[in-house]
Amino acid sequence: MMRTDGYPLSEAARTGHPLDTVIVCGESSVMGGGQFAVIAGPCSVENEAQMIDVAKKVKASGARFLRGGAFKPRTSPYDFQGLGSEGIELLKAARRETGLPIVTEITDVRMLHMFEDVDIIQVGARNAQNFELLKELGKCHKPVLLKRGLAGTIRELLLSAEYVMASGNSRVILCERGIRTYENVYTRNTLDLSAVPVLKEITHLPVVVDPSHGTGKASLVPSMALAAVAAGADGLMIEVHSDPVHAFSDGEQSLTPEMFDELMKKVKRIREAL
Ligand code: PEP
Ligand code: MN
Repeated sequence: MMRTDGYPLSEAARTGHPLDTVIVCGESSVMGGGQFAVIAGPCSVENEAQMIDVAKKVKASGARFLRGGAFKPRTSPYDFQGLGSEGIELLKAARRETGLPIVTEITDVRMLHMFEDVDIIQVGARNAQNFELLKELGKCHKPVLLKRGLAGTIRELLLSAEYVMASGNSRVILCERGIRTYENVYTRNTLDLSAVPVLKEITHLPVVVDPSHGTGKASLVPSMALAAVAAGADGLMIEVHSDPVHAFSDGEQSLTPEMFDELMKKVKRIREAL
């Protein structure tokens, strides 16, 4: 059992588990163990045409997974809360059209039965320490994309992963999405890219960086995405919307499909340089 600053880490530790964990969804969507993959799509699922349009575009640019929030954890109860189970149906429609596996967020343990057809279940920053949810996800047989908490330490992220793994599910992807600091004007969160090499050193789990929530501004997303690739991330999660100005959520940080396409070309070049 490896100790991280006094806390035992068993399942997630690289010690005793030298091989990287690889997440496989279908034939062409593989992440970890040297296989790099991008998860892209809108913050919120809005309607069928939007999902299918953006899914086709991000796939054409090289994304391997489609994201979209059906249950949205919003700061204000008066903001769009997501389409719920209908949103999951629309993600499935986009998957039928493109073949892209779908990643979507669970916000409460009572919703688990609605996630049967989802490929990867996302646990958002606000639920990073919802231990009962993490334990339930440990009993299900689906990969879990676990985001770092709003002000979560690296150790807390690792121990949250440990909750899922100790309950029986070893397929966990860690996601750095920025943390709350005193900066709140120029960036939404402070993206901690040092977490990438730290996590890669300590664990065998794939590490994904989300520069969309990490910066909160579309103009900053490409630079930080490229930096994340250079830092050794196994993947990226990028919010993409065909009409960001009218997005139901997180439009300011969403790339257009054209910007995403441009970024994917640069990601390829950075990876080749490495
Ligand atoms: C999201 O991915 O849309 C989201 C709500 O992310 P986070 O939990 O990182 O805020
Ligand atoms: Mn979002």
